[in-house]
Amino acid sequence: SRIVVAVDGPSGSGKSSVSRGVAAKLGLRYLDTGAQYRAVTYWMLQNKVDLADPAAIAVDAAVPAIVSGTDPGAPAITVDGEDVAAAIREADVTGAVSAVAAVPAVRARLIALQREIIGAGGIVVEGRDIAAVVAPDAAAKVFLTASEDARARRRNTENGGGSGTVAATREALTRRDTVDNRTNALAAAPGAIVVDATELTLEQVIDKVAGIVIH
Ligand code: C5P
Repeated sequence: SRIVVAVDGPSGSGKSSVSRGVAAKLGLRYLDTGAQYRAVTYWMLQNKVDLADPAAIAVDAAVPAIVSGTDPGAPAITVDGEDVAAAIREADVTGAVSAVAAVPAVRARLIALQREIIGAGGIVVEGRDIAAVVAPDAAAKVFLTASEDARARRRNTENGGGSGTVAATREALTRRDTVDNRTNALAAAPGAIVVDATELTLEQVIDKVAGIVIH
C-alpha cells in the first residue's frame, strides 16, 4: 500500500502508541517526527549550543546526521551513528525541544528528511504538522486529542510514575503546548478527522484510526 496516514496531536495524546499500532495492524511503515526534533535537540545539548539563541541553533541545524528506523515494532533513531532512542526521552531534551523545533532552519531540514522517508508512501507519520505541512496530500489525516488530565496522567505513567506528581507533569505539558502551539497550531488541519482518546482504550483508538484509513 502506498497510503500516507498523518497522525497529529498534542503531547500525551497517545500518538506514538496509536501510530505504531495502526502501522503494525495495516502492515505500514512508521515515522516518529517528534523523535527527530528530540534527536537534534539532544545533539545541541551535547554540543553546548546556546538554546536561548535561535541563530546559534540555525547555524548547526543541518550538522547532526539523523537516521530514523521505520519498523513500527522496533522504533529506532540514531544521531551521528549513536543510538539515542532512550536518551531523547530524558527530561533535559523534553524541556528544550520546543525551542529547537521553533527554529525555521531546523524545521526546513527535518521536513525535507521526512518527505524523503515518506517517499512513495506506505507509512504512518506522527507529529504536529504532518497533515498541514509535511504531507498535505496524505490520504488519511487524524488529529488525536485527549483531555489535559488524561494526557498528564498518561505522560506521568510513561515517565515511570514515581518521578513526579501528575500536577507537575500537567504543568510541564501545558508549558510545552504553549510554545508548540506558536510553531504549529495544535488543532485539526483541514480534512483531518478528530479522534478524542479520553474515554477510549489504546486498542479502541487503534481500531478507530485503522477504520478511518480503510473505509
Ligand atoms: O511528539 P513529541 O512530544 O515527542 O515531540 C517532541 C517535540 O517536537 C514537540 O513538543 C514539538 O516541539 C516538536 N515537534 C514539532 N513538529 C513535529 C513533531 C514534533 O515541532 N512534527
